[in-house]
Amino acid sequence: PYDVLIIGGGPAGAAAAVYAARKGIRTGVAAERFGGQVNDTLGIENYISVSATDGPKFAAALEGHVKDYEVDIHNLQRAEALIPAGQPGGLVGVRLANGATLQGKTVILTTGARWRHVGVPGEAEYRNKGVAYCPHCDGPLFKGKPVAVIGGGNSGVEAAIDLAGIVKHVTLLEFAAELRADAVLVNKLRSLPNVTVITQALTTEFTGTNGKLDGLNYTDRASGEAKRIEIDGCFVQIGLVPNTEWLRGTVELSKHGEIIVDAKGATSMPGVFAAGDVTTVPFKQIVIAAGDGAKAALGAFDYLMRS
Ligand code: FAD
Repeated sequence: PYDVLIIGGGPAGAAAAVYAARKGIRTGVAAERFGGQVNDTLGIENYISVSATDGPKFAAALEGHVKDYEVDIHNLQRAEALIPAGQPGGLVGVRLANGATLQGKTVILTTGARWRHVGVPGEAEYRNKGVAYCPHCDGPLFKGKPVAVIGGGNSGVEAAIDLAGIVKHVTLLEFAAELRADAVLVNKLRSLPNVTVITQALTTEFTGTNGKLDGLNYTDRASGEAKRIEIDGCFVQIGLVPNTEWLRGTVELSKHGEIIVDAKGATSMPGVFAAGDVTTVPFKQIVIAAGDGAKAALGAFDYLMRS
């Protein structure tokens, strides 16, 4: 068995692995895809001390750093079940899709999250070519240009307010008749001169020219009319889904399905820690996930010393 078994190989999992291995304890990582969401990222310009890099390069660097230490890496392995210890201080198990079960005195869950997609034609084709999901990451790419935001919940309205200070114009599209964000955010949004809000809008297609997004088509649900806006960028803000389906009924989850953690990354299950986008930790970013993974590894080490 491992002293620390990490599930997930994104920035949080990689940081947890480096921190655990540097304590000289037996460390293993099982990940479906080492690197995580970073693999799908074009440019990264906000990881402090790295002015600019790209996703695949950053993912390779994460793996390289982990491989500097004695860490067992089980790549391309999907975890399917978390098995609590039989007795206090016992081993926690993780069953993999291939049938094997790995065990750890402590387990750190870092399975991340995924952005909910609109699921219309053109979304996949223009992803990273105008269709974006992270305003903190990609907002500056659209400086002085017209963009849209899909989604009128808190994240969509926050994205629109944030982007309005950078881009030329923001059109916010909401499916329902009303914005669902908090009133204070909606009021702020409505006070901005370069924002248009369109409700009852059902996005039907992203279009482009020369491999770049040039607009989106939508149906006005009130009138049934087909309409179009011309934009250079579109931020999809209809939810971030934590990868916790496999954990239902084990560790305690928030109403959004995120793993609830304390200040040291401990979950509701003894010996089980969690870090990064899969948890309730606010602001889903690489630098935050990495710091969080380091913290959970130190939390797990602290737990090992005391048990
Ligand atoms: P993830 O990166 O999601 O990693 C999760 C890991 O768990 C992966 O290895 C995955 O394969 C694995 N996993 C999932 N389920 C299982 C399972 N059941 N069994 C085993 N393994 C599993 N942030 C920035 O700071 N700057 C940016 O420029 C930026 N751009 C982004 C662009 C895009 C397109 C996207 C999608 C995200 C971007 N982000 C950016 C956000 C950033 O990528 C995430 O905040 C960060 O990757 C979270 O790290 P994590 O380790 O918590 O989770």
